[in-house]
Amino acid sequence: MGDPRRAIPRTDAVLAEPRIAKAAETLGRDLVKSLVAAAQQRARAGEIEPGEVVAEVVARLPATVSSLRPVLNATGVLVHTNLGRAPLSAAALDAIVAAGGATDVEFSLETGERAKRGRGTLAALAEAVPRAAAVHVVNNNAAALLLCALTLAPGKEIVVSRGELVEIGDGFRIPDLLASTGARLREVGTTNRTSARDYAAAIGPDTGFVLKIHPSNYRVTGFTSEAGVAELTGLGVPVVADVGSGLLAPHPLLPDEPDVTTALADGASLVTASGDKLLGGPQAGLLFGDAELVQRLRRHPAARALRVDKLTLAALEATLRGPETPVRAALSAEVGDLQKRAETLAASLRSAGVDAEAVDSTAVVGGGGAPGVELPSAAVAVPARYAEALRSGEPAVVGRIVRDRCLLDLRTVPPADDATLREAVRRCG
Ligand SMILES: *Cc1c(COP(=O)(O)O)cnc(C)c1O
Repeated sequence: MGDPRRAIPRTDAVLAEPRIAKAAETLGRDLVKSLVAAAQQRARAGEIEPGEVVAEVVARLPATVSSLRPVLNATGVLVHTNLGRAPLSAAALDAIVAAGGATDVEFSLETGERAKRGRGTLAALAEAVPRAAAVHVVNNNAAALLLCALTLAPGKEIVVSRGELVEIGDGFRIPDLLASTGARLREVGTTNRTSARDYAAAIGPDTGFVLKIHPSNYRVTGFTSEAGVAELTGLGVPVVADVGSGLLAPHPLLPDEPDVTTALADGASLVTASGDKLLGGPQAGLLFGDAELVQRLRRHPAARALRVDKLTLAALEATLRGPETPVRAALSAEVGDLQKRAETLAASLRSAGVDAEAVDSTAVVGGGGAPGVELPSAAVAVPARYAEALRSGEPAVVGRIVRDRCLLDLRTVPPADDATLREAVRRCG
């Protein structure tokens, strides 16, 4: 008997297989070659048959060159930071692809000369918030706050309530971020109660601005009080309001969530927000407010380091002008519809031999806003042992474990993905 390892196909022969040759064109020859080498190694180790090398390579061909893998978010957390926050709308994805090559982001096709960067996006943002005299876009909300501190409070004080000294996740704290600019934080009031008088007593020649931060990932309840933006506008210094979530106007389902338009109407000089939370767009920091102040922010040398790229501008404009975003659709889905989908999916999975049942569930907006708001939802419950296999599937599916069951919450799964979800679960059975 000859050495079976001699039957392992040569690299050139595997690369010449039509499906693999095509993949080498789209994914790059080096990446595909490394998959071929890995498959040959597995054959040498006896883990697969020599005749399975080609199939092994094909099975492991990734959809894209990026190591980021698409995930079906079945967690019931609408804005899941670890899963990339807001999933973009199809319109935003199309806009990204269109802008991906050379594009007129800073060029007028009419005159053939340089033009204002991102003007279409800024116009869309200004139209979305008519109350704002001026708008600006930076890398994220943290960058928006940084730019405010750098511009309005160099060597000065930022007056902020002790109840609003927020950590935004992964150890990042807004007070530390602001202090990193050299501005000093002037804390006023207490954790649970801060009055307009507390702010007024702290204002002086050293004040850069008053900052109101929306605690978007926790709530202080019980014996509490805070001074709203409207009570702080007569102090003779700018009031910057960080509304966090990116609601541009009040939302009926989230009555306690602050929004940009209301903060401006209450007299905030500047309002900051994230683009990838409830607005449902790309990561971005949105700035709205007083024309003179916005102009100063735009002119600060650091503004260049915080600016967004053409892909963000494209996706943000499409989010603002396009159809309802996936985040909004998830927020407003009727629980009755979610229950029907859960029952249909569970029945279909049971007939495929999976131990699945439709159950009631509770979804949340997530770290991106509306702390304490519970959204009634429906889920398909499968055995907990499915969770790991679901995470390693294609696409990966992430649910949550509740009392030894893996719950796949449908509020965060677009209805168009139900069939994909069913197949992903069935494959794990
Ligand atoms: C999320 C959040 C931030 C941070 O926003 P990024 O866009 O992630 O930088 C800052 N402030 C508040 C109130 C937030 O909710």
